[in-house]
Amino acid sequence: MSHPYKGFEPEWFDSEFSKNSYRSIFKWGEPRQIKAPRESLYTMLKALFGLSDKNFESYTEDLGLEDVSFDLPVSLTEAQLMAFREICGTEFVRTDDYARLSVAYGKTMYDLMRLRRKIAENVPDAVLYPESKEQIEKIVALCVKEKIPLYVYGGGSSVTRGVECVRGGVSLDMRLRFNKVISFNEIDQTITVEAGMSGPDLEKTLNNAVSLFGAKRAYTCGHFPQSFEYSAVGGWVVTRGAGQNSTYYGCISDIVLAQEYATPVGTIKSDTYPRKATGPDLDQIMMGSEGTFGVLTHVTLRIFRYMPETIKRFSFMFKDWETAQAAAREIMQSEAGYPSVFRLSDPEETSVMLHLYGVMETPLKHLFKLRGFEPNKMCLFLSFTNGEKGFSKNAAKHAKKVCRKFGGMSLTGYVTKSWEEGRFNDPYLRDTMQDFSIVTDTMECSVNWSNMSAVHAAVRAYCKSRPKTVCMTHMSHVYPQGANLYWIFITEMSDPEEYRAYHAGILDAIQKSGASMSHHHGIGKMFAPWLEGSVGENEYDVFRALKNHFDPDNLMNPGGTLGFDLPEDKKIRKDKKLYE
Ligand SMILES: Cc1cc2nc3c(=O)[nH]c(=O)nc-3n(C[C@H](O)[C@H](O)[C@H](O)COP(=O)(O)OP(=O)(O)OC[C@H]3O[C@@H](n4cnc5c(N)ncnc54)[C@H](O)[C@@H]3O)c2cc1C
Repeated sequence: MSHPYKGFEPEWFDSEFSKNSYRSIFKWGEPRQIKAPRESLYTMLKALFGLSDKNFESYTEDLGLEDVSFDLPVSLTEAQLMAFREICGTEFVRTDDYARLSVAYGKTMYDLMRLRRKIAENVPDAVLYPESKEQIEKIVALCVKEKIPLYVYGGGSSVTRGVECVRGGVSLDMRLRFNKVISFNEIDQTITVEAGMSGPDLEKTLNNAVSLFGAKRAYTCGHFPQSFEYSAVGGWVVTRGAGQNSTYYGCISDIVLAQEYATPVGTIKSDTYPRKATGPDLDQIMMGSEGTFGVLTHVTLRIFRYMPETIKRFSFMFKDWETAQAAAREIMQSEAGYPSVFRLSDPEETSVMLHLYGVMETPLKHLFKLRGFEPNKMCLFLSFTNGEKGFSKNAAKHAKKVCRKFGGMSLTGYVTKSWEEGRFNDPYLRDTMQDFSIVTDTMECSVNWSNMSAVHAAVRAYCKSRPKTVCMTHMSHVYPQGANLYWIFITEMSDPEEYRAYHAGILDAIQKSGASMSHHHGIGKMFAPWLEGSVGENEYDVFRALKNHFDPDNLMNPGGTLGFDLPEDKKIRKDKKLYE
C-alpha cells in the first residue's frame, strides 16, 4: 500500500479470491500483491478525467471473483487425448474449463476486459504440461499426423494476442515442468536452459553459480523486461524481446547464442560459435517466429559477470523534449560506452512520473520553478551504468557531462533509485485502477533519430484525439542510430471493442508515421494485419516461404499470427484507410 491518504481513499481491492476465478487469470503476478496510486497521482487522475471521489465509492468493473466456467465442447477425440496422455502422463493433460482458459489469453487490456466480462473464446481443447524436449518433439509429430493445431504458452505476458488458440487444438503450458538448466559453461560464459524457465529462476541460478555449479563468480542474464517476473525465456526469444538494461547488455536477439526447435519438419538446432559467415543466420531467422515455425525447446544464452556494486545511478531534468533527444543522441554517438538503463520521458510522462514517484512532494518542486524548468515542457532522464568498475564509472561520468552540456539539471540518483524499486511492481497498479474503469496499456515502435520528433508527434496526436486521455511517451532502448518510442495511455474505458478500435488507430498511426510496428513486443495476432504493409510485399514473401517450409499444414500457432493465414482484405497497407 502507498502512503496514507489525507482525504478519502477508495477501497482498492485487496481481498483473497479463488484460485480458479477469472481474477486469478487476468490479475498480474502474485495473487496477494497489489499496488495503489499515491494520493498525488490519484488526485491528478481525478482532475484529468473530470472525476470525483464519488466515482470511486464502488467498483465500476466486474472483479471477476467467480470460478471459471463456460460451455465450449472439447473437439479432440478420446483416442487423441489418450495419445497425448501417453506422451506427457495422465495428469499432465487437462481439459477442464479453468486449465483451458488459463492459457488462452495474454495481458493486453483487450484480454483483461474480455476476462472481466467472462468472455471465453479461442480456448484450446486440451492443455499439455510437457517435461522434456523429447516429449515436445513427440507432441509436434502427433499434431502433424492428426492435423491438430498447436499453441505454446510461455509466461503468458503477451501483449499482442500471441497465445490465443484461435483454432482450438492443444496448448503447451511450459511453466510447470519445462524449466530446468541443461548445462552451464563458465569457460565460454554460457548457460543452456529449457524454454519455460522464468526470469527470476534464470537470474537466481546465475547469481548462485558459485554454489550451484562450482563457478568462480556470480553471473547475470542481463535481460530484465518489465514483465521479468512473469515471463519465460522461450517467450522472450520468439518475440524478440528487450530488457530494461538492453542499451548495455543488448536485446534478447543479441544475448541468444543458440536455439533448438521441434518443428513439423524435424529438429532445428543452431550451433554455439560466437560468430560465423556460413550463410543466412539461422538464429535470427527463428527468433521472431512466435511459435509459427515450431516450438522452441532449448536456448543457449550469453551470460555476464554479476557486479551490482559497480552500478552508477544518475538522473537529469531537461528543459524540453528536443534538447533531451539531442542529449540522448550525443550520449549514444560519442563512443564513450553506453549506459545500461536509459529512460528518457517526454513532458507528459515526466509530469506523471514526478507524481508516481513522489518527487513533487520534495523540495525539488520549488527548485524546478526557480531554475526555469516548466511543468509541461521539462523531460526526465534516468539512467544507470553497469560493467567493470572503471568502465561503469567512466560511462556515467561521460553521460553526466553530456547532460550538463545540454542544460540538464542533476537530480542525483534519487529518481533512478525510486524507479528501480518500482520497476517490476507498476503492472499491479493496472488491475487496481481497472476495477474503477481506468485502463492503462502500452504500445511501442522503433524509430531513427531523424524521424523521432515526427513519429512522436503523429502517434501522440492520435492518442490524444480521444478526449481525457493521458499519453505518456519515453525511449528506453537506445542506439547510435535511434531508439524505441514507448507509449503508455491511460483513459476511462470499459468496452473491449472500443478499446480494440482505439488500439488499431494507434497501430495505424505508427505504421503511417514511418516507424517499425514493434521494437520488442512482437506481432502476435493483434498487430498482424499491419505487418506485410509495414515490411513490404517482396520482403514478406520471405517470411511466407519460411512458413511454408516449416509448417505447410499451418498447424503452428495458426489463426493470424504474423499474418500468415490472414485474408488479403484484413491486411492494412500504408496507403489504405483503417476502416475502408
Ligand atoms: C506488464 C508488462 C510489461 C512488459 N514489459 C516488457 C518489456 O519490458 N520488454 C519486452 O520485451 N516485453 C515486455 N512485455 C511483453 C511480454 O512480456 C514479452 O513479449 C515477453 O517476451 C513474452 O514472454 P512470455 O514468456 O510471457 O511469452 P508468452 O506470452 O507466453 O508468449 C508470447 C508468444 O511466444 C510464443 N511462445 C512462447 N514460448 C514459446 C516457445 N517455447 N516456443 C514457441 N513459441 C513460444 C507464444 O505462443 C506467443 O505467441 C511486457 C508485458 C507486460 C504485460
